[in-house]
Amino acid sequence: MNFDQHIAKVPAFPKPGITFYDISPILEDPAVARQAVNTLSELAARYQPDVIIGLDARGFLFSLPVALALDIGTIMVRKAGKLPGQVIERSYALEYGEATLAIQTERDLHGKRVVIIDDLLATGGTVSAAQALIEQVGATVVASLFVVELTGLNGRARLSGDVHALQQYE
Ligand code: IMP
Repeated sequence: MNFDQHIAKVPAFPKPGITFYDISPILEDPAVARQAVNTLSELAARYQPDVIIGLDARGFLFSLPVALALDIGTIMVRKAGKLPGQVIERSYALEYGEATLAIQTERDLHGKRVVIIDDLLATGGTVSAAQALIEQVGATVVASLFVVELTGLNGRARLSGDVHALQQYE
């Protein structure tokens, strides 16, 4: 399926010169959303992961349904300050600004094969920070899956494991 017509391109957001790729139209149409989840699930299943990691916040929209399709669990990587209990954190540069990601140390990841899911790959800063957290707790990232990839920023060069996206833009 070609998802292009279901991804809104919003000029000058969040600031002039940036085009924001908005996946909201995918979510609004159940047939399209189901197709996106099914395709991501088929891609994830190839890697026989033990767990799916969803990235805060739009990654969560896809990580849980994919994990359920594979009958495995999902773990959240969240922005700093959102997760209770003991966490480990990592700061990273965004396409616009800076942020910190966190994961709970009590989540059972040691020795696990992990597939990461997020809505969009731009510079790769977010997912490479998430990968560093995941590797720090003894898991291996076997693949990272996205709805959208902005290929011109070459974010995939910063990631370990395979990388797939449902829709690519230069
Ligand atoms: P990166 O860290 O530069 O790869 O940026 C990816 C992160 O920023 C993801 O978590 C995205 O949700 C968010 N992001 C960056 N650009 C866009 C966009 O155009 N649309 C939606 N999310 C974006």
